[in-house]
Amino acid sequence: MAIPSPLHRSFDYLPLPGVVTPRPGTRVRVPFGNKSVVGIVVGLSTHTEVPADKLRAAEQVLDSEPLLGESLLALYRWASQHYLFPLGLALQTSLPKPLREGEPPTLATALVWERTEAQASGRPPGASAQQLLDCLQRYQRLSSGECSALLGKPARPLLTALQRRGLVREIAAQTAPREARQLEAALTLNPEQAEALAALRQGPSGFRCSLLEGVTGSGKTEIYLQLIADVLSTGRQVLVLVPEITLTPQTIARFARRFQARIIAFHSGLTDKQRLQGWLEAANGSAHIVIGTRSAVFTPLARPGLIVVDEEHDDSYKQQDGFRYSGRDVAVYRARQLDIPILLGSATPSLESLHNALQARYQLLTLKRRAGPASLPDIGVLDMKLQPAEAGISAGLQQRIAATLASNGQVLVFLNRRGFAPLLRCGHCGWIAECQRCERSFTLHQQPAQLRCHHCDGQRALPRSCPQCRSHDLEAVGLGTERSAEYLQACFPDYPVLRIDRDSTRSAKKFTETMDIVQGGVPCILVGTQMLAKGHHFPRVTLVAVLDADGGLFSADFRAQENFGQLLMQVAGRAGRAESPGSVVVQSFHPEHPALRYLVMEGYGAFARQLLSERRSGGLPPFSHFLLLRAEAARRDLPLQFLLQAAELLQREAPRGVSCHGPLPSPFGKKAGVYRAQLLLQAARRAPLQQVGASLLSALEQDSAARKVRWFIDVDPLDFS
Ligand code: ADP
Ligand code: ZN
Ligand code: ZN
Repeated sequence: MAIPSPLHRSFDYLPLPGVVTPRPGTRVRVPFGNKSVVGIVVGLSTHTEVPADKLRAAEQVLDSEPLLGESLLALYRWASQHYLFPLGLALQTSLPKPLREGEPPTLATALVWERTEAQASGRPPGASAQQLLDCLQRYQRLSSGECSALLGKPARPLLTALQRRGLVREIAAQTAPREARQLEAALTLNPEQAEALAALRQGPSGFRCSLLEGVTGSGKTEIYLQLIADVLSTGRQVLVLVPEITLTPQTIARFARRFQARIIAFHSGLTDKQRLQGWLEAANGSAHIVIGTRSAVFTPLARPGLIVVDEEHDDSYKQQDGFRYSGRDVAVYRARQLDIPILLGSATPSLESLHNALQARYQLLTLKRRAGPASLPDIGVLDMKLQPAEAGISAGLQQRIAATLASNGQVLVFLNRRGFAPLLRCGHCGWIAECQRCERSFTLHQQPAQLRCHHCDGQRALPRSCPQCRSHDLEAVGLGTERSAEYLQACFPDYPVLRIDRDSTRSAKKFTETMDIVQGGVPCILVGTQMLAKGHHFPRVTLVAVLDADGGLFSADFRAQENFGQLLMQVAGRAGRAESPGSVVVQSFHPEHPALRYLVMEGYGAFARQLLSERRSGGLPPFSHFLLLRAEAARRDLPLQFLLQAAELLQREAPRGVSCHGPLPSPFGKKAGVYRAQLLLQAARRAPLQQVGASLLSALEQDSAARKVRWFIDVDPLDFS
């Protein structure tokens, strides 16, 4: 039985007397300690090591049929072993809440809207209402969620208004699943796209992993859509994974416009009930397309036919707490297990996937040109050593911005640091405002004016004078989006300057307003963090400026250059997405840096291949694998003590081929008042590493010293800070 417990094992129970023994995948209520919990049967056994007087009986069988099919259960079991995370908790974190709590898996009767025979009389419906009526005419029956997806805004108020006028009605959906149909015609593919699609269609049925390496705007999504159409026409389901930030109404609308199909989108705005409904519709096969972020990889599918992972390089596929799995990697495993094809797409593939493709483990398909009328932007580097600059904006850049605005273009200014300035310093004695809980400097914010710690979200009022020497000479050092936006507004008072970062977009309403201005096409300046780099389509942006390229070039993290290249190319990809060509200006104090030059001159593809050869000579992933054991405690000495003990244990037991780095305090040695340390294990092959991890787990679980610290294992870690 898998039980939501941190212990890395399953638990044995006696079956209920007089009841048919439940099969694996069935939920059963069982006593656990002095509580009663919902567990999932993972196997049946005729013997147990639990002494007879300790063995307890199940309390209640909750499902008449197993809730989890064999293959989904096997997927969870694999993920639990691979990521060294307890199966019970893995299930617990990704099942819809009502199911975790033991509620029955009953589908609510789905309600859908349809057009009545009545014609509009009197006042003609408004533009949105008319659009809604047209959609209902075309698609015949739509849930209110689907209506919203098609309109790109909540449809419920409009539907209610139209219902009052007798133009639409709400009815119970037929229970038999509909067949999916393609409605909107597919675009005519350009030769590159056509070649890629033909290659995808050809070849073995069954498992194959393909990597679609296509520059931004090259029409990857169009290829997904056409491949999906094939799969839907054979009556099978498609699972589409996207990064959190791109799961927008626009994305869903693009799928909804193309197909008359039941599309389930798992986004963060769903209620528990809606999530359950989607899960059940995917499980019983009435959903045709499931779109979601990483956790959607665990959605049950009755007739799986294809998995698509868009922007496969995106860090958000890796869960950074609890069950630290990679949604992309689980997806590849799942496709293999289900023996279906999987398509990974990105303009800037991860080195892991690229390596697999170059080793011919994945099929590699490339799109080098943009689809449609747009052309790729040209990228130029501005040497900041030769330029006067203010608020991080060089004179040369300022001229380019002025020229772009004057020709009615929009400008996107990218700076990956929010707030006004990353440092508040006393000009007299050198004191720096620092978060005690993290031992890092506070970031100065002006809207509202306060000090904020970007690591623990702690906040402080602005000091009026230096707490150390009473001087009033406090200065803001460095650059954040607020400061650049303020300066740009002063330079260009006649144009809107819009800031897009986590602070300015906290209110969804404000974000929508900002986006409306941008989409409206007036010349303006957008200043933002990496939120700008992902997914959004800005057809009128013709100039993209990267204020500070150097942060990504000089970092101790071995992935920093890869991430920098991805970010730069994704930001650059926002330029000139429509007819007007775009250009990109990158400011750097080190324009001669080989990585930067290579990226700019040769593009991401060559840059990434170059990085791969460096990783190979350094023996770094993907040419080896990492496993991170991290420990945290409120007392400074405990994490290191604990890890030393773990390292000793390893020295005694570790198989050959596994090397051990540390223990060391983490680069981020203290965070939110907690001291952190880590031990890094590395091996060329996965198997011995996995084996060490498993034996480490069972040893540490028995260890009483382990209870004084919070510890966990991160397999294939992305975050070494
Ligand atoms: P990607 O997913 O690679 O960023 P998209 O599929 O979003 O690219 O395509 C970028 C733009 O080009 C979209 O506006 C899309 O409608 C358009 N497009 C894609 N393929 C074609 C094509 N074959 N002909 C004309 N326009 C296309
Ligand atoms: Zn001072
Ligand atoms: Zn802090």
